[in-house]
Amino acid sequence: MTIIPQEVMGTFHEVGRDLYTLGLVSSHGGNLSIRSGMGMWVTGTGTMLGRLRERHIAFVNPDGSHQGPPPSSDTLLHSTIYALTGAGAIAHAHPHHGIALSFDTDLFVPLDLEGQLHLKQVPVIEQGVVQVEQIAAALQNHLVVLLRGHGAYARGATLWEALHWITALEESAHIAWLRR
Ligand SMILES: [Zn+2]
Repeated sequence: MTIIPQEVMGTFHEVGRDLYTLGLVSSHGGNLSIRSGMGMWVTGTGTMLGRLRERHIAFVNPDGSHQGPPPSSDTLLHSTIYALTGAGAIAHAHPHHGIALSFDTDLFVPLDLEGQLHLKQVPVIEQGVVQVEQIAAALQNHLVVLLRGHGAYARGATLWEALHWITALEESAHIAWLRR
């Protein structure tokens, strides 16, 4: 088993805890990954983001094989995003207001200054057989996307940056919802 570097583990632990504490995932929801060379570190399927330890993180090799726990069911999506973008990390969460707004629009445009400045526009992808390719393609030109009725996927140079875009999206979505 490849040993996860302490700094990488620390980032998973703290970002996962922040997402759970902020109410952006349920106890067992969401997933996170960090690119490592041609492979990636990714949270195991069904792990609790608020309580991540070494035994919860898998390493997925370029050929799809893995070490550690069974990787997240979203692993193929993470691989596709890394293949199509320059991302260094990916976060997936279930922000309530973002999900609520996703039912009624194909493109969420923040009303608030912070959201306009950072996110600009957030595409909403329909669930279906091509959602993996569509989410990855949308993340080439956007920092975060919504999967309708499910949640948000954000990419960043680091996992901290991906956390920033998830929290910024939920802040903007909450404001938009309050103003409806
Ligand atoms: Zn999800």
